[in-house]
Amino acid sequence: AKNHDIITPKTQIKIGNLTIGRDFLVIAGPCSVESEEQIMKAARSVKEAGANMLRGGTYKPRTSPYSFQGLGRIGLQYLSKAGLETGLPIITEVTDTRDVYLIGEYADVLQIGTRNMQNYSLLVEVGKIKKPVLLKRGMNATIEEWLNSAEYIMNAGNPDVILCERGIRTFETYTRNTLDLSAVAVVKGLSHLPVVVDPSHATGRADLIIPMSLSAVMANCDGLEIEVHPSPAEALSDKEQQLTPEQFKTLMSVVNKTLAFK
Ligand code: PEP
Ligand code: MN
Repeated sequence: AKNHDIITPKTQIKIGNLTIGRDFLVIAGPCSVESEEQIMKAARSVKEAGANMLRGGTYKPRTSPYSFQGLGRIGLQYLSKAGLETGLPIITEVTDTRDVYLIGEYADVLQIGTRNMQNYSLLVEVGKIKKPVLLKRGMNATIEEWLNSAEYIMNAGNPDVILCERGIRTFETYTRNTLDLSAVAVVKGLSHLPVVVDPSHATGRADLIIPMSLSAVMANCDGLEIEVHPSPAEALSDKEQQLTPEQFKTLMSVVNKTLAFK
């Protein structure tokens, strides 16, 4: 038997008055923290629309070394301030074992990105801290490889793992990745861990976020992670896929209707 094997009751992770695995989780916020003003605006708008966790990258794993790399520690402070002012718990990505402790001091949840799903020393390091970890599926990883990565974190002593499907690489080029929604239903049958869907990185296209979010709800996911920016056209990263606050408000309304219908 493995730590992630299906058992009842399923894993529930408490953060303040939010219980992941029971309450539908909506993580929202910009791809990157760009300034104090930008993250504050984003935080207020997603809070008002009904999100229950704030995201924002400060250590950015960019495909090109010439792209914006994030604000680092100062970005972490802005994100933390925005979370405290809005009452939203915060999540941010950790890309380096040397940053785990520092980020763990600020963030309520640590995110492991797709590029680091099989960075085993990083998985063991986040396994040693007492903060939940959102583990994104590697863009080239099978479901079994993904679950084995969760196993690394749990074996190191941290049972609070949230899985996140964020699209995989296929031959298709109209979308950034291919959202593997069947993986959500499969994993829900294999594991007791909560599963969240990130349609933003999966599709890379703002126009596909609402339909894919509703489909993810019907595939039985436990939550969504959505990129929202006060002004997507001016974003320093992932401008094509970030929703405006207005679009996010619409998304929340249709997601809530779908959850009630389901
Ligand atoms: C992110 O969520 O900020 C991110 C970089 O996503 P991914 O690791 O899925 O590409
Ligand atoms: Mn992004």
